[in-house]
Amino acid sequence: MTEPPSALDAILPALCERLGPGNVLTAADDLEPFLVEARGLYRGRAGAVLRPADTAEVAFAVKTCAGAGVPVVAQGGNTGLVGGGVPFGGVVLSLARLTRVRGLDPVGATITVEAGAVLADVQAAAEAAGLLFPLSLAAEGSCRIGGNLATNAGGTNVLAYGNARDLVLGLEVVLADGRVWNGLKGLRKNNAGYDLKQLFVGSEGTLGIVTAAVLKLFPKPLARAVGFCGLPSPREALALFEALRARAGAGLTAFEVLPRFGLELVLRHIDGAVRPLAGSHHTYALVEFSTSRPGADPGAELEEALADALSGGLVEDATIGASEGRNAALWKLRETLPEAQSREGGSIKHDVSVPLSRLPDFLEQATAACEAAMPGLRVCAFGHFGDGNIHFNLSQPEGADKAAFLAEWERFNRIVHDIVAGMDGSIAAEHGVGLIKRDELAHYADPVALDLMRRVKAALDPNDILNPGKVVALSADPPRALP
Ligand code: FAD
Repeated sequence: MTEPPSALDAILPALCERLGPGNVLTAADDLEPFLVEARGLYRGRAGAVLRPADTAEVAFAVKTCAGAGVPVVAQGGNTGLVGGGVPFGGVVLSLARLTRVRGLDPVGATITVEAGAVLADVQAAAEAAGLLFPLSLAAEGSCRIGGNLATNAGGTNVLAYGNARDLVLGLEVVLADGRVWNGLKGLRKNNAGYDLKQLFVGSEGTLGIVTAAVLKLFPKPLARAVGFCGLPSPREALALFEALRARAGAGLTAFEVLPRFGLELVLRHIDGAVRPLAGSHHTYALVEFSTSRPGADPGAELEEALADALSGGLVEDATIGASEGRNAALWKLRETLPEAQSREGGSIKHDVSVPLSRLPDFLEQATAACEAAMPGLRVCAFGHFGDGNIHFNLSQPEGADKAAFLAEWERFNRIVHDIVAGMDGSIAAEHGVGLIKRDELAHYADPVALDLMRRVKAALDPNDILNPGKVVALSADPPRALP
């Protein structure tokens, strides 16, 4: 007996006709890369992957799917870390063919790009015009602008330039019913009603499909200096941050922190990683001074600042990159830490933020609580310290069973997130909510905020077509949140 045609089967011919049969993938092998996410925590399912070429085709695809009640999950580079792009039914809508730079305005300092443009290509287009697009993260060679905006990505330049949200002036969005909202204005000031674009930024594909964006560009820094410091604890790291900020102001463009265990993991697992300081320290800070002022010497300024910190006892030891190659090598120690940690075995991850003044307290309390909860567990807390954002990751005890360790995720969520909530922090600092934190959001969010989020979702996507079950679940039977 043949099965009755599904809602998707009924619309596949129309989709093939409009997008071209080569851009409607249905073979299992072709679907495979779109069903799993970067860390392999989730495996989803989809009936097809749609690869539209432009905004009109995206609109046609969404309208057709919505008409048939077929869910649509947007995907850019599929580098997201919260399971947000994993489909659980319906279709994946890949933005990977919408890669054009539609325009660059050097006077207004803006660039207009399509959602599928790879972040590194947008950076390169800005650079070719003598300008800077500052969004920067380790996945920049494969993540795409639409995904960056949909997750409100952070990365290593937030201290100086803000999150993706701060870098966008206008958006073009395909709505859940297939209409196109053209909000592609490059204005620095626009108070004509609600700021609709910010609704879509950070909405993780649940409110609309971003198809293009107007982004801010900046003068390119003329020089930078990178320092790597060994410190006795995160308390001194916070004091160092305050001292450097007081000295350099906006010239302090990065302040990242990693623990002794994190540096040891990088040295163990990453080819070419070189120990930056002779001794071993409890905490390490990577700091960067940059300038766009001709004639300024950030190297000399950083050297003087770190000499003062050394003589004041804040810093135990420090080095400054003497060349761009050495600067890059110091940055590599920080940027490759997630990769090194994954090579060490299973890790339970928490991407959290707390008020800066509470960071040392948070690190002390959360570390003690987790170590008490599982002897042998190894805390690897690192990240964008200057933004108050810590990746509070837990490596499995040596020799432990990875699956059994990961099964403890929920227990550690409660331990870590309770401490975060008690400090008025956020359980989802930069990677978003997606699937993995959906139920945590429901647990911790202010009930009024949660109600407003659900109303916004219901208003913009009343039939729950766009990325159902993510961020806030409207359906009675959403996919399981924890992997
Ligand atoms: P995807 O993974 O494809 O999608 C992410 C979410 O956005 C999904 O919910 C998807 O449905 C939705 N989406 C995608 N495109 C669109 C669109 N056009 N319209 C509407 N919704 C859409 N993140 C940080 O914030 N800071 C970091 O420092 C950082 N470092 C990382 C390092 C590594 C090695 C890796 C693998 C990831 C890192 N990430 C980081 C996470 C990830 O790179 C970011 O979340 C990135 O912004 C996702 O972009 P993407 O194109 O891969 O999106």
